[in-house]
Amino acid sequence: MRLIFLGPPGVGKGTMATRTKDLLGTPHISTGELFRENVSKGTPLGIKVKTIMERGNLVPDEMTVAMVKERLDKPDASDGFILDGFPRTIPQAESLSDITGLDFVLNLQCPSEELIKRLTGRRFCPTCNRTYHIHYMPPKTEGRCDADGTELLTRDDDSLEAVKNRLEVYTKSTEPLVHWYQKHGLLQNVDASAAPDGVFESIRKVLNR
Ligand SMILES: [Zn+2]
Repeated sequence: MRLIFLGPPGVGKGTMATRTKDLLGTPHISTGELFRENVSKGTPLGIKVKTIMERGNLVPDEMTVAMVKERLDKPDASDGFILDGFPRTIPQAESLSDITGLDFVLNLQCPSEELIKRLTGRRFCPTCNRTYHIHYMPPKTEGRCDADGTELLTRDDDSLEAVKNRLEVYTKSTEPLVHWYQKHGLLQNVDASAAPDGVFESIRKVLNR
């Protein structure tokens, strides 16, 4: 099965993509990982990408598409794949449709109040790097690490203002893509506000597995 996962920060996209990969036995292809792999192996594309990123520039669409195409041509992807982090724009989606067909685009949805609660509740221990969540995985003593008693901190990325901004950026940049896939009859909305097991059940229903 050829799948794409879309979803805002905090929706649990990585977890669901991994569980779906285990269910279907198809590779989970994340463009972030593809970039790192190509750079660390020093492939011709990796060398170009590295230079661009070192200059602080965005990797052009053609290069991302070339890298994805190369990955999809590998034998383990011949029966299907799960794409994560790509496409991000309509031109990328158009290029992808020239390379391969798709079965479903799974759009994980969750009200922003719940996403804000999930993301702003995360804490970490600067001493041992353990992570906590004030609602879902609280430490035994409020605000202190279970292992070493260090005061827990919030990452800058998880502050209320940063989270609101991340969600806004996501919605603005992804909405056109969501409409595009809807128009092409591939979009399946999945309610991702429930607990992970429930969300995965909904995904299985869509996939008929
Ligand atoms: Zn600690």
